[in-house]
Amino acid sequence: MLNGLFAAASVTGFDPAAATDAYIATMDAAARARSDAYYEGGYWLILINLVAGLVVAFLLLQTGLSKGLRDRVKGMVKSTSLTVAIYAAVYTVVTTLLLFPLTLWQGYFREHAYGLSTMTLGGWMSEQAIGLVTGVIMAAIFLTLFYLVLRIAKRAWWIWGAAVSVVLLAVAIFVSPVYIDPLFNEYTPMEESELRDDILALAEANGIPADDVYVFDVSRQSNRITANVNGLFGTTRIALSDTLIDNTDSDEVLAVMGHEMGHYALNHLWEMFTVFAVLLAIGFAFTDALFRVLNERFGARWGITGISDIAGLPLLAACLSVFFFLMTPVANTVIRTNEAEADLFGLNAARAPDGFATAALRLAAYRKIDPGALEEFVFFDHPSGRARVAMSMQWKAGQLALGAEDQTPELRLDRAEAIMRDLAAQSATD
Ligand SMILES: [Zn+2]
Repeated sequence: MLNGLFAAASVTGFDPAAATDAYIATMDAAARARSDAYYEGGYWLILINLVAGLVVAFLLLQTGLSKGLRDRVKGMVKSTSLTVAIYAAVYTVVTTLLLFPLTLWQGYFREHAYGLSTMTLGGWMSEQAIGLVTGVIMAAIFLTLFYLVLRIAKRAWWIWGAAVSVVLLAVAIFVSPVYIDPLFNEYTPMEESELRDDILALAEANGIPADDVYVFDVSRQSNRITANVNGLFGTTRIALSDTLIDNTDSDEVLAVMGHEMGHYALNHLWEMFTVFAVLLAIGFAFTDALFRVLNERFGARWGITGISDIAGLPLLAACLSVFFFLMTPVANTVIRTNEAEADLFGLNAARAPDGFATAALRLAAYRKIDPGALEEFVFFDHPSGRARVAMSMQWKAGQLALGAEDQTPELRLDRAEAIMRDLAAQSATD
């Protein structure tokens, strides 16, 4: 081992590949098997959720529930837009209820089986209820406008529909910190501390206009560590989870915050709006074609007059879900590429490669640490643990070669081992 290490070492005596292997090796076989099983199960969930959604859509159409609902509402209110709004609200409730057994299993029981959730069944149910109420309101608003576009734009609806969807998404992201996030978590200003000062100094050094840091109580839901730097139109907010503060040390916190600041500084949100708009326009064009084919065949039976008929919503949603299922590797790769950019930005900002490496190891609680290349390409919306540790060690090797005085070849293996003990204990207590 030592011979191999020295043989591969560069002039600085630091070998990034050996350092990466040493970090990954702190995860024992049992922990790795559990984390792999959890994450790989998620691959199947993509397919299961698609099929479940398609079955529900088929039921609503084939039993005549969809056209019956449209006719009933139309008979009561006359106005087309109001019909759409009411249909959308009922549709959201009905599909949520039909899919509830699957949601309960994957959102509650499965999370508990892997020791990832800290919620009671009652707490989880009340969050679902809040989610349903906000979902009904948002679906009614969104679909009313969307079907208005469908009626006005006719054949060009796929372009205008994408534009309107992205604008509404931007509005949702804009209002979410004020109206939606507080429904699920409490946000409090972070107490005065050296760490808080360091986070604000890091923000200032990287052009992020924020003068406060917030802590939100993720521990209510899980032991996952998370943070974000959000802001549109000058309302920038730096927030980190209580689990991040409680379970990690300051090197790890600053490494994670450097990553989050990267998303902000690199304008990833705007890039995502653009990519999403293009993807959605293609998705709507795909939906338009598939809808036409299916409607020609089954439209009479299902009572759908055309794409702008609200009774066809289950079919429209089904076509779109098939598109996004097929686009899984594309969407994941776009997001993962941005995540890797934020990683590199964070390394340069926080200059704590070992802090970032050990923070990445902690995420192995729920993300497969060392996937194959194709697997990572298709299924990963963030770089894998190994990819992140490798990037950190590569960065460090480069800094050492440059003679950076704030970097040392030492690894934080004892810290990595402590994190792995922590992960083992978490799953044992659940
Ligand atoms: Zn990120």
